[in-house]
Amino acid sequence: MNDWVKAEVIKFKKWSNNIFSIFLNAKIKPFIAGQFAKILIILNKKKIIRAYSYVNSPENKILEFYIIIIKHGIMSNYLSKLNIKDKIMIKKNSFGYFTIKNIPKCKDLWMLSTGTGIGPYLSILSKKKKIKKFKKIILIHSIKYLKNLHYLHIIKKIKKIYKKKIIIKITLTREKKKNFLHGRLTKLLKNGTLEKKIKKKINNKKSHIMLCGNPNMIKNICEILKKKKKMYKKSKNKKGNITTESYW
Ligand SMILES: Cc1cc2nc3c(=O)[nH]c(=O)nc-3n(C[C@H](O)[C@H](O)[C@H](O)COP(=O)(O)OP(=O)(O)OC[C@H]3O[C@@H](n4cnc5c(N)ncnc54)[C@H](O)[C@@H]3O)c2cc1C
Repeated sequence: MNDWVKAEVIKFKKWSNNIFSIFLNAKIKPFIAGQFAKILIILNKKKIIRAYSYVNSPENKILEFYIIIIKHGIMSNYLSKLNIKDKIMIKKNSFGYFTIKNIPKCKDLWMLSTGTGIGPYLSILSKKKKIKKFKKIILIHSIKYLKNLHYLHIIKKIKKIYKKKIIIKITLTREKKKNFLHGRLTKLLKNGTLEKKIKKKINNKKSHIMLCGNPNMIKNICEILKKKKKMYKKSKNKKGNITTESYW
């Protein structure tokens, strides 16, 4: 049985008008880094359930979620207005297969994200036990503006843990800044800029690509990788070099 359990808001961080992080205390079962929770609220006697990826590593018992407020979105607006000590419900067991265990061993693991899609990677890479399965990890975080780099504090910690084993690049889609990539992931991949800047070639024998966030980005990147690199989505019963987590 996967019951709902109470979750209490213990901290709240408003990053901007439409992005926040919420920190919860709840007696959930241990989850695997990369998984997501299901959150339940009751509004006008109607149950509303949405999925949210954990940002915290499984060792950290404070549950952290990085959330964008959707215009007219029921759950995101509701959560954004909660106060400390308010209670919501969360599923005791977590969900999803966007985990390192499900990625085949290879040379380079590419972790690509848009916006709040950075969450599962932060959880995976903050774990005390370092990932040894890959020679190099490349983390790419696509945001609109530099001011949207809310999780720099954790990114810095990850860099300290993984040192030369990880390459981290931020791409800004709406402004140009020195030392940052500029443009959408799709464009950077299609025109070869991403590989050029990282100084690594994506290869269907040596690389695996994780994609998290905007479903249009995921669809377009899968098409580019299929065309340019003969890379395909991995599923439970099918081998492949792309693993995805689509947020809508
Ligand atoms: C596996 C999984 C993990 C998720 N993890 C997160 C997370 O960590 N953080 C998070 O903010 N959302 C996450 N989501 C999305 C989340 O479940 C909700 O869909 C979102 O909060 C909107 O709910 P709502 O009731 O406010 O809006 P709804 O009325 O349900 O509006 C849904 C619409 O909002 C848009 N939308 C949904 N999510 C996003 C997003 N992240 N960025 C931009 N537009 C979006 C889409 O247009 C979608 O059709 C995840 C979804 C899935 C399936």
